[in-house]
Parts: sequence; C-alpha cells; structure tokens
Amino acid sequence: MSEMLIKNATVYDPINGVNGDLMDIAVKDGKIVDSASGSAQVIDAGGRLVYPGGVDAHSHIAGSKVNIGRIMRPEDSRLGLKARTKLTRAYTGYTVPNVYAMGYRYAEMGYTTAFEAAIPILKARHTHEELEEIPIIDKGGLTLFGSNWMVMDAIRENDQDRLAAYVAWGLLASRGWGVKIVNPGGGEAWGFGKNVSGLDDPVPNFEVTPRQIIRNLAEVNEKMNLPHSIHLHCNNLGKPGNYETTLASFDICKDIKASRDRQSLHVTHVQFNSWGGNHWGDMESKSDAIADYLNKNDFLTIDMGQLVFGSATTMTADGPVQYANARLLKARWSNGDVELEDTSGVTPLEYHPQSYIHGIMWAIGLELALLTKDPWQVLMTTDHPNGGPYVNYPMVMTMLMSKKRREKEMAKIAEKTFERTSIAGIDRELDWYDIAIKTRAAHAKVLGIIEQGKGHLGVGADADIAIYDIKPDETDATVEFDKVEAAFRRSAYTIKGGEVVARDGEITATPMGRTFWVRTKVDNDGYGRMMDDLKLKFKNYYSVNMANYMVQDEYVERPVVVDTEYK
Ligand SMILES: [Zn+2]
Repeated sequence: MSEMLIKNATVYDPINGVNGDLMDIAVKDGKIVDSASGSAQVIDAGGRLVYPGGVDAHSHIAGSKVNIGRIMRPEDSRLGLKARTKLTRAYTGYTVPNVYAMGYRYAEMGYTTAFEAAIPILKARHTHEELEEIPIIDKGGLTLFGSNWMVMDAIRENDQDRLAAYVAWGLLASRGWGVKIVNPGGGEAWGFGKNVSGLDDPVPNFEVTPRQIIRNLAEVNEKMNLPHSIHLHCNNLGKPGNYETTLASFDICKDIKASRDRQSLHVTHVQFNSWGGNHWGDMESKSDAIADYLNKNDFLTIDMGQLVFGSATTMTADGPVQYANARLLKARWSNGDVELEDTSGVTPLEYHPQSYIHGIMWAIGLELALLTKDPWQVLMTTDHPNGGPYVNYPMVMTMLMSKKRREKEMAKIAEKTFERTSIAGIDRELDWYDIAIKTRAAHAKVLGIIEQGKGHLGVGADADIAIYDIKPDETDATVEFDKVEAAFRRSAYTIKGGEVVARDGEITATPMGRTFWVRTKVDNDGYGRMMDDLKLKFKNYYSVNMANYMVQDEYVERPVVVDTEYK
C-alpha cells in the first residue's frame, strides 16, 4: 500500500475549480485520496506550482508513418542523444525520437498521457506494438475513418446502422478510442492522383461528398455515445484561402447534440486551416474569423497546431498535401496507400523565421489561442511533429503567457508577417490557471477521459501530478519567461500513478502505462449487413486475410476498456 503526501502545493486544478490554492494532496495506491496516514512518503512542494499530469490529445507518437519519418531522416536520430543508464534506454532523435525518448521526454516535462492522433486500422497492430514500448505515459489512439470504403459505401446507401456497426468494429479492430477524419474523401481520391476540392466535391467512384462523410460520422459518433467527439482534420489543409472550408466544416455539426458533457466536434491543428488569400503571394491570417466563430459557438473545440521554427517532420493521412509540400519545397517525400482505408505521406522540412509564410503560420497558432475567449475551446498542441516537436511545449506556454516573450520571437521573424497577421497587436497574456486548462484539463475533457481519472486532481483521480520549480505568487510570467520555460522543461517531480517517475527533469522510474480503447455494442441487423460487406471486401480487395487483421488482446497488455452502446 504505497502512500504519498504532497504538502504546501500551489495547486491549479481547473476541472475541480482549484485556482492557485495552497493545499496538500494525498495519494494512496496510485489514486488521489482525502488524506494520508503518518507512514506516507512526504514531498514538501514548498509553495511551488502543482498541476495535474499533462495530457496531449493530439500527437503522432507511434505507427508506420512515425517509423517512415525515422527512416527518411537518419540525421534526426543523431539529435537529442542521451546515453543509456541503469534505468533508461538511449534517447535518440528530435522530430522523430525513438520510442523510449518519446515517453521519457513527456514525463520529464510533467506529461503523463498522450494520444496518437491517426491509426489506420490496417496498420493498427504495428501502432500498438510501438505504443506498448513507449515507457511511462498512458496512451490511446484515434482511428481513421474519413476515406474508408466501408464508411463511404454505408453512407451512399443511407445505412447508418451499418455505418455504426463498422465504426464499432473498426474501433475494436484497431483498439481505438475515437473517430478521426482526415481530409474526408480526399484519401480515396488521391488513389487516382486527385483530391477533393471542397465539402461538396464527390469522391470518385463513391458519389458521396466530404460533407456527407463528416455529417454521418458525427451523427453516428453521438448515437454510439463515444467518450470523444469526431476529431476532424479539414479538407484543403495547407492551401491559402482554406479558412472558408474550415468555417463551412464547423457549420456541418452545428446542430448535432453531444451525447456527453463535451463538444460535438473537435477540429485539429487549425493553424494549418486558417489561411486567407488566394495564393502564396497574398496569404494572410484568418484566425480572427475562426476565433470569432468559436466565440459565438460552444459546440466545438479546436487545437492549435502551433508552428515552432526549426526542423519538423510532417506526417499525415492527407496524402495529397504531402505531395504538394514536397513539390513546393523540393523536399523528400514518402507516400503510402493504406488499401481500402486511407493514404499517408511524410515530408521532412524546416520552418524559417525569415519566410513570411512560416511567420504567418507561427502567428496564426498563437492568435487562435489568444483571440478565442474561452480557454477550454483551444488546446495547446504543435501537432507533433508537424508544427514542431512536443519538447517545445514549454516555449509555447511562455509565449501564451507573455507578450514580451512573443515580441522577442517576433524580432526574428520576416516583417511582412505582421502586415498579414494581428499577433503584434494582441496584449492578452494567459495565467497559470489558463495554462493548466490548455495543457491538461481541456485535453482530458475533449478526449472524454476525465471519468478515467485523467486531467485533474479530485479524489479518485489517477495520481498523475507535476510539481514545477516555480512559485506562482513570486513569479511574474509576463517578464520572467526564461525562468518559467526552464521550470516547465524539467519538472521538479513528475508523479505517475502515485510513483515518482522524474525528478528535476531526470527519469527515476519507468513503469509502463495503460492504453485506453472503446468497445461499442451495436445490437441490430446493421451488424449483419456490415459483416456481409466486410467479408466481401476482404475477399475481393484487401491484401491480408481478415483473420490476420484485427489487433488481438496480446497486443495491448494493459488495456482500459470503456463500453458504450449504440442507440
Ligand atoms: Zn496530427
């Protein structure tokens, strides 16, 4: 029976409305409890900042595209090297770290949970093999459905019961947590070297539109009572003028009632989808229009997809956008066709502050977070490693907290950026409470894992706790941003499930985390129709046998299964 008492903690726990109160936190057997006995291990926080363990709702941490990134970028593996110790394996890589560094580095920053944002069902076994090797953090994954033949056939035939049966089967087959939609329909069109140009552009050979795909999956998602909403990567990503498609995509779900206390639509890395103008020459920020929509509507949430200058390895199921990137930048490019399900592409690139395009992208991410009034609506992400590696979160946090820190960065950025963006005129500076929302509480709420004990410090929650070497009442984050960033980079203590896993930024224990997935019961004849169709597709098209396809229990050693029912 392990017990711990954290004394004199300055706690920010937004899910429970705790805003900088000086208090003690008691832990028993990996959970937060009311009080501890005299034999508990005592940690004196000495008034320092205490947050729930960080949660990352959108990151690319495992699976074939991460591995392709590693193969394409041998030079990356020489960055961030750290030799093995008695406790830890060697760290390699910066934009595409090895599996060990992936877990260690999250833990060093006080993060204890991260979700892989794109699992193709066909590649799910590999994804879980990697997830199982990432130490310390708890994980989950979002399963790709947006260009899937089974999905589009069911939608064309107006058969939502069959669609729900397939989504349930796909989540089971991939041991997935939620419904991810990437460039809906575009992945299939890319199989013919094409893309869909907008929400009403029919997918070749299927005669369904991106609008229908989003709408039907959103409806089915709520009828299935899934913990998370649909998670959408909009059409036309990376194209000037795409903000109009983004706003129109929001509207598709405006009247959908969420089945749980959460959004009914989450739109991801919106930085890449908030661009105005008609071409690269007149590209501008349209974050004001996006933030204005968020300020008027509470049914949706987004994440930033903040750009960080330097190296990134972009990886996405949006195949055509990677081809366009590679042509534009004369960069290396990989392309993958995931049979009946989706596509993928990987392109390594560099973000330069002297490129006004990259400057505008940098500004948009921050503008989205700062112009949207409700901090719960915009999660802090870099869409790791697309906008930049997650190890830069501490820097992004200080930029949200300090105008002076932003101005320091702006001094390096091409001047033209500031004619096309509003970042220079934004005075807002987020506080410790807002940052706790944007880096843990809102992520847990958006994913629907509060009930699983994530993102907060209430009694019964997982004892995932970050203590940072900073005293909020003695620190002015608007000017002491270097000190704040250093504290966020190396937590004084990271506690995972009641165990100290990092101390002053060094790993002290390497327990293995759990994996969340959802099992939905679909009890109607839609299931039979779906199975008939699925067997036919395996017989006629898939290169693997159906029996060799599904992720089996052996692949997920420490599962947390949530059961729901389709109504
Ligand atoms: Zn992503």
